[in-house]
Amino acid sequence: MEIKFERFHLQSDLLSPLKDFESVSIPTEVRLDPLTKRRSRIITWSLPPTGKFDFSQMVEESKGCIFCPENVLLKTPKYLKEIAPEGRITAGQAIGFPNLFPAGTYGSVVVLCRDHFLNLHEFTPEIYVEGFSVAVEIIRKTMAYDLHARFWQISQNFLLPGGSSILHPHLQVIGDPTPTNEMEWLIDSGSSYYEKNNTLFWNDLVRTEEKLGERYIATSGKVHWFVPFAPIGFNEVCGMVEDHASLTTLGQEEISSLARGIVSTLRYYYDKDLNSFNFAIYSISGEGSHRLLIRIISRTPLQSYYLNDWTSFEVLQSELTSNIYPEVLCREIRPYFF
Ligand SMILES: [Zn+2]
Repeated sequence: MEIKFERFHLQSDLLSPLKDFESVSIPTEVRLDPLTKRRSRIITWSLPPTGKFDFSQMVEESKGCIFCPENVLLKTPKYLKEIAPEGRITAGQAIGFPNLFPAGTYGSVVVLCRDHFLNLHEFTPEIYVEGFSVAVEIIRKTMAYDLHARFWQISQNFLLPGGSSILHPHLQVIGDPTPTNEMEWLIDSGSSYYEKNNTLFWNDLVRTEEKLGERYIATSGKVHWFVPFAPIGFNEVCGMVEDHASLTTLGQEEISSLARGIVSTLRYYYDKDLNSFNFAIYSISGEGSHRLLIRIISRTPLQSYYLNDWTSFEVLQSELTSNIYPEVLCREIRPYFF
């Protein structure tokens, strides 16, 4: 089944002071997500880059945080004995423990490394392989304790614009018996698509994108990387894992492919003078039409004066914007992959 990509154009006409008050037309493109039908706006202008931010003072003032090696085992919570009698779950440098300030049923933090701060080009695939190994163990052990906790988000909020007050790189691993809004949209629209077409949306999408070539980045084993047609954030890159819906069923090869794709994306962000990002992995057991998906987006970089990139457009109109055509992003980021 070939996926249909729907879009329409808006145009704003004005007399521009930047061109001696001549008439100019500024286009905006509205795209519909092929699965959820959610609208995104692609705007064709952006604020000028602010250069690389100097983190040295911020790092100096915040080092020795609760996630630093000298504190992490003393100041962070332990799991219930019924879930993980060892208290914390570790793999290499990564350490997982319950979130002292959870936002759901099973909230964990995974500290990714001993370093208090990393620039985006300093993250390595090994860091994420170890972090995801801990996340998998957290999910497995929690689901052995509570089978109903089958909706999991594995995410990273990096730096203040990404929503993290702690510099030290870490993941959030959150499991619930109920889905988030985003998970429900993915599940419901994926099921409807399957009922209508008798094929999986995600398989059809990657085949279509592969054929078109303009948003398809790379494949590594069963992990397909692409730029979404209708992004829900800035510089969004997606990875879909064929045949898997949950992080717990992945083998080492798929975990490693996910890790390398994240690091490739972060290196591109670094070269574009970006420094803050979010990603989320939607890991859901027991939903036949779902496939494991990761979405990575950049945030407006940390700079001297804080600028939030979620305006009333996003927060109060649920109309998501991005400022680079997905096809251009794909061309630019492809050389960073594998
Ligand atoms: Zn630290």
